Amino acid sequence: MKPSKKNDFDVIVVGAGMVGLTVASLLQDSQLRVALVDKNQVPTETKADEHDQMKFDARVSALNASSREIFMQLGVWNLIEKERHCDFHKMHVWDADGTGSIMFSADDLAVPRLGTIVENSLVVDALMQHLKWKGDVELFCPCSVTSLNEFDDWITLNTAERRVLRAKLVIAADGANSKIREFSKFRVREWEYNHHAIVATVRTEMPHQKTALQRFMPTGPIALLPLSSDAGVGCQEYSSIVWSAEPSYAQSLINLSDKDFCRELTKCSEASFGEVTYCGPRYLFPLRQRHSVNYSKSRVVLVGDAAHSIHPLAGQGVNLGLLDAEALSKEIKRGLSAGREVSDPVIMNRYQRARKVDNLGMMALMEGFKRVFEADTLAVRWLRNFGMSSINDLRSVKKFLARRAMGLDS
Ligand SMILES: Cc1cc2nc3c(=O)[nH]c(=O)nc-3n(C[C@H](O)[C@H](O)[C@H](O)COP(=O)(O)OP(=O)(O)OC[C@H]3O[C@@H](n4cnc5c(N)ncnc54)[C@H](O)[C@@H]3O)c2cc1C
Repeated sequence: MKPSKKNDFDVIVVGAGMVGLTVASLLQDSQLRVALVDKNQVPTETKADEHDQMKFDARVSALNASSREIFMQLGVWNLIEKERHCDFHKMHVWDADGTGSIMFSADDLAVPRLGTIVENSLVVDALMQHLKWKGDVELFCPCSVTSLNEFDDWITLNTAERRVLRAKLVIAADGANSKIREFSKFRVREWEYNHHAIVATVRTEMPHQKTALQRFMPTGPIALLPLSSDAGVGCQEYSSIVWSAEPSYAQSLINLSDKDFCRELTKCSEASFGEVTYCGPRYLFPLRQRHSVNYSKSRVVLVGDAAHSIHPLAGQGVNLGLLDAEALSKEIKRGLSAGREVSDPVIMNRYQRARKVDNLGMMALMEGFKRVFEADTLAVRWLRNFGMSSINDLRSVKKFLARRAMGLDS
């Protein structure tokens, strides 16, 4: 039976990040009464670079083909595409400590692009615009969940704004430090990567030519992701960096003057796009691997970073989260059409089965990459370089790795 009171819902999604907004949007045509809550005003103020007329958000994501497909089916991709975005066609990955190198190219793989770099805030804006336009989901922003109580038929959420919201099912999309996961006492396996990631927008002397770079150093990987050469901006000088390093080294990089940081970045990226001539504000993110042992418990289910957070070295976090959102909404709709209640364990088990193996597989792959590139023994270094050069020559292995990262195979 449908809840009748104003603050009663079938489903409450906690967290209006990219994943929460997507799952709420995907449930719009389900006949369920859905609410979406976020502790912040959404969309938030873009973390814009005020010194830069381009005003890029420092947080960007490399969206793969499966994420693009989800947004296309939702009818949101055209909104994202109207904003700044950059399709990239090549990706060069190489080892700082030798000669190993792999070049992935969209032409070789016969695909239109390897992926698309988008600013997170623009994706959130587009999803929110679409949700408001449809008008089926009730929004509570800002609204910060501070505790929850579980009953036989309901779950109640108490908020800092003194609201009490009730639902049959709570979808926790409240990010890596999920409070909902904590309140519901989910068991989590987690460990420190012993890396902090620095993100910033930079300008380089030479155009990026729609190429993403990743250089593995013993201190950690550095990635340059090309920004905005589409949507009429016509500029190929800006890239977004994700530079992961041991915490003390990362902190020392943050403390450098802009000029010294640019010089260090030019050196560490081997001046691949020439000299780094400008750097926007730098942000530091401590990195921690987490994976919830179960994705659901009574009336609570986890999606996105609330369920799993991984090293950003292959840019897969949000891509996995969007697949969670798609799988959960699909299983809910399938369950409803079979007459099940929205939090039925059958629905939740099917969702977990659909996603857990894929998420764990990607997490293990990222952990393996990190360890292999950190190892400093001669034998591992030789194998690493030999392996990279061999993969570069082995079209089938290279194709397998690229298709996995692009979300075309799982
Ligand atoms: C440096 C870095 C680079 C990355 N690069 C990539 C990349 O290139 N590609 C990729 O796929 N992934 C990347 N990722 C991972 C990606 O950013 C995350 O996987 C993604 O943002 C997770 O989205 P989410 O919606 O699950 O969580 P979040 O984006 O964290 O959203 C959580 C939301 O919940 C809200 N919230 C939290 N607590 C409460 C509460 N108590 N009450 C109400 N609301 C609450 C927050 O305000 C927020 O809006 C990167 C991560 C990092 C750190």
